Amino acid sequence: MAHLRLGVGALAVAWVAAIGGGADAQAKKDPKDELAARWSAAAKRLSQRHAELAKKLVAKKMHELAWEEWLHAAELDPSNVEAERALGRTFDKSKSAWVAAAAAKPKKNEGTPSELKIRAKECADERLAASAKLIDEIEMLARWAESQGLKEPAKDLWRRILRDYDSRHEPALLATGSQFIDGRWVMPDDVARHAEGKKRIDDSAEGDAVSEASELDKKLEWKLVKRRSAHFLLEGMHSDDEMKELVRCCEAAHAQVCEALRLDAGAVSARIHGVFMAEAHHFDVFIDRAVDLRENDRARYKSLGGYASSAKLLIANYQGENSWADVKDISVHMTAHLLLDQTLKTKPAPAWLREGLAFWCTERLLVSAFTECQRNKTGASDERGLPDVRDWPKEVREAAVHGTAPPLRAVMLSDLGSLTPPAMMKAWSLVDYLLTDQREKFTAFLGALKSGKEQEEALKEAFGGPGIEEVDALWVASVKAKS
Ligand SMILES: [Zn+2]
Repeated sequence: MAHLRLGVGALAVAWVAAIGGGADAQAKKDPKDELAARWSAAAKRLSQRHAELAKKLVAKKMHELAWEEWLHAAELDPSNVEAERALGRTFDKSKSAWVAAAAAKPKKNEGTPSELKIRAKECADERLAASAKLIDEIEMLARWAESQGLKEPAKDLWRRILRDYDSRHEPALLATGSQFIDGRWVMPDDVARHAEGKKRIDDSAEGDAVSEASELDKKLEWKLVKRRSAHFLLEGMHSDDEMKELVRCCEAAHAQVCEALRLDAGAVSARIHGVFMAEAHHFDVFIDRAVDLRENDRARYKSLGGYASSAKLLIANYQGENSWADVKDISVHMTAHLLLDQTLKTKPAPAWLREGLAFWCTERLLVSAFTECQRNKTGASDERGLPDVRDWPKEVREAAVHGTAPPLRAVMLSDLGSLTPPAMMKAWSLVDYLLTDQREKFTAFLGALKSGKEQEEALKEAFGGPGIEEVDALWVASVKAKS
């Protein structure tokens, strides 16, 4: 043993001598190791700052807010005993780790509603002041890492600033590849997704011109511009180029929904009929002459501005005051509705799924979400309740981080009329989460719905046990992680 040790020591000395630098060579560390050492020291300081803030919040009896700070403190430095204890954890020697007690959760904030309101504001100010210092420290390290050519680790530090302290921090947005487009920052993933959607529409078939008069032409005694593609027959009062663009939008939406719902071509082989009128009075003539309705339903249909019929595989609307972007949005939104209805034939799709899927398609393909079915209205208007779709990723992320998103149970069980804008955005995000992170489970969920199961039962079956609340927690974790 002694001999071996001596041998290794002798070898080490020889190696240092051989590279010739002696003490200098030992001091010159690999920048990666240096960064790890600097981060480890910084994390301890950051952890301490979070702990200090937590104590201030505890003194204000804002225990729930303090809890979040203790969580940050423990995440940054698992050896921060004060934080671990505040989180109700105990040190398990056999695992050499702090373990949470089963029911560890914060005490409720203490005070009357008006006291809580005042203190919440004070705490937000405390947090903001603390964040500025925390950001400075991380930013300094990120810039040092960049100066050493450590681009990826530097990005992780910048992302930490965006995720934990300031989602609008411009140097961090720039460093992580966000782009400033039309007055707003767009995250790299969103930039890529939107480029893909545009390409998908550009690459879709524009259909063939149809010159012979249709049944609709005869009923209306007009000559509509027509194009026929594999899955659509569109007739309308727009130019041939515009009708080509609508066919491309519809075909792109068709392909996207078929992929999302894993539909085989045979399941949706019937052609969808689209009628795109110019003005309200044209639409009125269409309702009067070409739609089979009871007399007292006619006025209601005329007031809708447009509608889709799953039974007739029909999309009908007019442009009126709306922009051309609205018309394209409607064509994609309604295609998504008709295909989902075709799939779930047995009963109406839950509202969150129907709207969430339609918004998922328009956001991906057109970067828009103009069509709002919930108020029996389609197209743009000043009364539109939903924020610009380009802000949805940020809105949803912030709601998830601050715990202000509506509970999944409320979203899933709401009918069309009671889906508020935050619930609509969550429905959209949930569809995206299911399609990107839980592909197999989403297919199983749809299968269970198709077989007639209620949503909660279908979700449990698809996820192999976890119910709505557990799936909600999974969604929150996934959205937070995408920062
Ligand atoms: Zn809709």
